[in-house]
Amino acid sequence: MLNIALFGPPGAGKGTQSEFLITRYHLYYISTGDILRREIQEGSDLGKKAEKIMASGGLVSDEIIVQIIEKTIENNPQAKGFLFDGFPRTYTQAYILEGLMLKLGTSLTCLISLEVPFEESVKRLVSRGAISGRSDDNEEVIRKRLEEYTNKTVPVIEFYRERGLFRAVDGSQAIDNVTKQISEIISSELQNNLFNIVIFGYPGSGRSSQSAAIAKKYGLESINMSKLLEDEIRNNTAIGQRIEEHNMKEEHVADEIVVQLIERKLENAQNAKGYIFKGFPRTLVQSYILEGLLKKHHSSIALAFNLKVPAIHAMERLNKRGLSEKGKHYDKSMTLMLRRFKEHEEKTIHVVEKWISRFGVIDIDGTGNFDEVFDRISREIDNIIPNFE
Ligand code: AMP
Repeated sequence: MLNIALFGPPGAGKGTQSEFLITRYHLYYISTGDILRREIQEGSDLGKKAEKIMASGGLVSDEIIVQIIEKTIENNPQAKGFLFDGFPRTYTQAYILEGLMLKLGTSLTCLISLEVPFEESVKRLVSRGAISGRSDDNEEVIRKRLEEYTNKTVPVIEFYRERGLFRAVDGSQAIDNVTKQISEIISSELQNNLFNIVIFGYPGSGRSSQSAAIAKKYGLESINMSKLLEDEIRNNTAIGQRIEEHNMKEEHVADEIVVQLIERKLENAQNAKGYIFKGFPRTLVQSYILEGLLKKHHSSIALAFNLKVPAIHAMERLNKRGLSEKGKHYDKSMTLMLRRFKEHEEKTIHVVEKWISRFGVIDIDGTGNFDEVFDRISREIDNIIPNFE
């Protein structure tokens, strides 16, 4: 999971930079200030408690903050990662965040601090106040907010510095430059984590050959489900025999077998920079399994691709492969070919649809020759993590 806290004095540009981070990395945005303003607007008990303090520029109690953060995290179990804006604001809140992340089996990736001189903050907030109408954006309250920042929030820096998670950016530069520096920080953080890719597409869309080439180029471990199953059969293992029994009865291989094979791969490939999955997950159940398995390894999905080729085109490719010596038995039977297509359309497409909002599945035009498609995929990877090779 990529979890980022954006830090900095009021007016440092946290909100502006957040907009970019949310879309680029598909993070769930938690701004404690926004949540509190909403509570006030709704007239909730919590809002009533916070209103006076916020209007005066003080910090609301850690007790209130822990409640709203906990509730927001719990209400979003699907989140791929979180972006915190305006939290943690006290040393205690830094511990709270650590505990909350631990509960999710993850941790904060880093805290990015937007550094802006106080006078610049005041200037920006006063002009924002003229437009936003935020009652706490007037000079007197701004000074109080900055005082609270110095006394209570600045110590948070030390918490993250000690843990090696503090990253500073000069926030007084032009917005685009700040954005660029933040992306560089995140890229390098992502390189320290496992980088996992899933590649979807019709049978015959080129998933196997592309995933093998991507794995080679980026130092990833390829997890090709049909290949794993074939290897078990070829090596005549106990699992292989069970797979064959399923095949003879023309049944799907049980999820429990698939899980074992993936688990083994994840445990044995300790030096991989990440994994590229092909042919898995095929169903919603398997998508939950994959997320669970990755979580166990303190990891998650970084990218998902959908290789798009017209169905007729994919069938032609499979037919051609079936006639060649590389052909698999299931390429040679029309019944089996149709069944695989149907399976994709009835089951796998639901996973792709669900993942579009969660991980931002990237469509790749799968037509054209191998190199053209490979370039399209590589470009998307390079975009997220430049210099990953
Ligand atoms: P912001 O929108 O982040 O500038 O927050 C506006 C106001 O909400 C602050 O001045 C505080 O009164 C309150 N607030 C927001 N986040 C926190 C927090 N993590 N801890 C305490 N008070 C907060």
